[in-house]
Amino acid sequence: MQYPAVTWLVAALLFAYGLVFGSFANVVAYRVPRHESVVRPRSHCVHCQHTLSWWELLPVLSWLVLRGRCRKCRMPIAVRYPLLELLTGVLFASAWWQGHTIAQVVVWAVFWMYIMMAVGTDLAAMIVPNVLSLPAAVVFLCASVLTHIQPWPNAAIGLVVGFAMVFLVHLLSGGRMGLGDAKLYLAVGAMLGPWLSLLSFVLACIFGSLIGFGLRLYGRLKVGQFVPFVPFIALGVMTAVWYGQALLHLYMRLVGLA
Ligand SMILES: [Zn+2]
Repeated sequence: MQYPAVTWLVAALLFAYGLVFGSFANVVAYRVPRHESVVRPRSHCVHCQHTLSWWELLPVLSWLVLRGRCRKCRMPIAVRYPLLELLTGVLFASAWWQGHTIAQVVVWAVFWMYIMMAVGTDLAAMIVPNVLSLPAAVVFLCASVLTHIQPWPNAAIGLVVGFAMVFLVHLLSGGRMGLGDAKLYLAVGAMLGPWLSLLSFVLACIFGSLIGFGLRLYGRLKVGQFVPFVPFIALGVMTAVWYGQALLHLYMRLVGLA
């Protein structure tokens, strides 16, 4: 890179934006499944309804200062909130290296924001609301093609393949894999194209099985109990976006196709 200082400065700025948008993703994740407005009323404690002042709303920092508890009622604030903010920051910064143009960087950042919202709604309410996933499918199909992240046949085939493979698992699993996960994959397919989408889903299933097996082994998961799957999808998508080409190449070499 020719200007390392500028590069790191932009990445740091994107990281800061990611923290703020991650905080907003938390609000969306909590309120959308409850059919509440995402703008009003102002953020409040979910236990005692105490309205949060500005310094209680700083991403990650407030949680650390308050040591994970509400200032008024001292009830715990789940650690997943600051973690999701932090991860959104990292993902926004990563968009800087993924995109080749400013437009692509913006689209990747918005895509990660969408994935983090879905992680949030799945953790909070075990759903990915249609009001998020269906508009996202259209937005990311257009954005992916218009900013040349994917050529249009790849984006369109990716969208169809992405939905179809998860829908198939939804049918085969008798509904254990949610329909919301399939709808989430419409946008993932449009952004990643068919091959990387497929890889991301295989990775998500591997991660999910390993963690599920681990939880069951330590008695943290009962038979028939469901685990939210979108966090594993997010992990699979991240791995596919960052290391997918290398993994596919390795696979081709292993099976003797390259
Ligand atoms: Zn409270």
